[in-house]
Amino acid sequence: MRLTVLGSGSAFSTCGCNAGYLVDGRVLVDCGAPVPALVRRAATSVDAIRLVLLTHFHADHCFTLPTVLGARAFAQPVAPGTLVIAGPVGTREYVSRLLSVGYGSHIRHDVDANVAPEYVVLQDGRDIDIAGYRVQSHAVVHSTGPSLAYRVTDADGASVGFSGDSELCGGLRRSIAGCDLYVCECTGWDGPEPGGHLWRGDVETLMAEHPSTRFLLSHLSERRTLPGALIAHDMLSLEIVSAGG
Ligand SMILES: [Zn+2]
Repeated sequence: MRLTVLGSGSAFSTCGCNAGYLVDGRVLVDCGAPVPALVRRAATSVDAIRLVLLTHFHADHCFTLPTVLGARAFAQPVAPGTLVIAGPVGTREYVSRLLSVGYGSHIRHDVDANVAPEYVVLQDGRDIDIAGYRVQSHAVVHSTGPSLAYRVTDADGASVGFSGDSELCGGLRRSIAGCDLYVCECTGWDGPEPGGHLWRGDVETLMAEHPSTRFLLSHLSERRTLPGALIAHDMLSLEIVSAGG
């Protein structure tokens, strides 16, 4: 399993693009980074994306999704295969509104006609196979609801988790259990963060509780180091191997 970080910065940081992560070029987790150009730099294409997972409806996690859908809607030839967009309840309505506000209802119609995304509602405890991956969803506590953390597992058993944005909570802990690598937000470094976010002290707690999971810190306000953790940067690419394999 290959993870590529497209955006490692928090909402208003200048140290990296907003959120976006690519798994094997096929699964896009969150879409706040300028994804169409960045996936090309990662030597792949928006046409290869089969599944978009949204963690929650904040701009830094969703607002470039219309450009991904537009790139697919006007691709020549049209990308084969179905694109699934999965996220919390309300995802279909939210994406539809983003398209209409961003580019007008005619673009929404072009996306409906040419891309025809399939929408899947995810919620706490849901555990399903989508686009060849096992996707487990866990409700987390953030400043907007609903918000989800995910664990994505490939056919070989390698698994990567994504915190999305969350404060310390039970759902967040459940999403870490068993992951080979966990992409964990670390919005603050010096003290608790407002707005339902994790800071370094929270992350240290989670790392101590999950010693067999490797942590990759992202959603950064600035880039520092934390002993025992990897620190994300835009276009970082990592191979994830299952603990058993
Ligand atoms: Zn957020």
